[in-house]
Amino acid sequence: MNVFHAIESEVRSYCRAWPAVFDRAQGSWIHDEQGRAYLDFFTGAGSLNYGHNPPELKQALLRYLERDGIAHSLDMFTTAKRAFLERFEEVILRPRGLDYRVQFPGPAGANAVEAALKLARKVTGRKLVVSFTNAFHGMTLGALAACGNARTRATAGVPLPHHLVLRYDGSGDDRAAEQQLAAVLSGSAGERPAAVIVETVQGEGGVNVASAAWLRRLAELCERHRVLLIVDDVQMGCGRTGPFFSFEEAGITPDVVALSKSIGGYGLPMALTLFKSDLDVWAPGEHNGTFRGPNPSFVTATAALDFWAAGTMEKQTLAKGELVEELLARLCAGNAVLGAMHRGRGLVWGLTFDADHLAAAVCAAAFERGLLVETSGPRDEVVKLLPPLTATRDELAQGLDILADAVRACAVP
Ligand code: PLP
Repeated sequence: MNVFHAIESEVRSYCRAWPAVFDRAQGSWIHDEQGRAYLDFFTGAGSLNYGHNPPELKQALLRYLERDGIAHSLDMFTTAKRAFLERFEEVILRPRGLDYRVQFPGPAGANAVEAALKLARKVTGRKLVVSFTNAFHGMTLGALAACGNARTRATAGVPLPHHLVLRYDGSGDDRAAEQQLAAVLSGSAGERPAAVIVETVQGEGGVNVASAAWLRRLAELCERHRVLLIVDDVQMGCGRTGPFFSFEEAGITPDVVALSKSIGGYGLPMALTLFKSDLDVWAPGEHNGTFRGPNPSFVTATAALDFWAAGTMEKQTLAKGELVEELLARLCAGNAVLGAMHRGRGLVWGLTFDADHLAAAVCAAAFERGLLVETSGPRDEVVKLLPPLTATRDELAQGLDILADAVRACAVP
């Protein structure tokens, strides 16, 4: 028995699907200790949008460490934090006309969501938060309460009050769902909510894509009834769907935005809660946490913004997304007997089959063939593809070839 099995908790999960010991990584590739290379279309569940160890970020980090730059600073002023804030405002906020305050809530996505929910309740003086079926917002109690999946919520072990889960009707076709949403937000169905929290594309929930029209209607309803709109862009932000923020396509401006995962740029922990400046009702220290000043993350996050300064990132991602869509369409056409279907946006794609269990089998067969892809969805029924935004077209084609081969292997009775 190895040390992982001997002393690491049973709670471990990804290592069960991928029983290799990983050692180094570069770009789109991750290598195990035997020297085997895997193409990584998992990318730390969306934390490595710029690939593994991007050289420019690594150099910035090494320079910072070499000169004994501050590593930890709670929320003190540091040169690394100043550089990040200045660059974030210059490259991301100002060009988009976003008048957001920046809160550093602690490094995880769940921290960013907790801060967003607490702020919405403080601003409005209301308690109820609306979220959607199959939503995933994190594992701490507040964020967990906003998750849509009953099995996930049950892990809390205590009741999770003041939350209402409504149907995620991304296509916007369901009149009854829309009427229910309107009634809840207006308060005519009971208590008026403080906030609605939504993912524009549900990552963990199975790559469910909300239409721009539905997001606009949701934003209009929230504005009309003075309910705050929180977009959880933890997984879909930082360019995953094309633009830096996933809601840009819909032309909406959420009141509050949660970011984490790829904001640090290098896979280093970092999160942001952004909100319109008139919502900044926090008292000093009212929401805090020890790890709000991860300066090495600020350094790589600042360097990562150079990807956005050039102005080509969005276009390149959308073009690569078209390639992936075309290759997935071909894969699905060739596997019509399995009911293969695909859906997605930018560089997040999902592949489903008539039989739910096939997704896990395909992921396992892909791993054997040197490709990391994970399942998502409430029944693990979706193969989720999150290639690095920096993957080359050849790497994308190679990954899709491996995936097609894995599907073929699983199609054999
Ligand atoms: N929100 C979304 C949309 C996520 O996908 C995740 C994690 O997958 C989280 C929040 C929670 O982030 P973390 O695991 O860093 O707490």
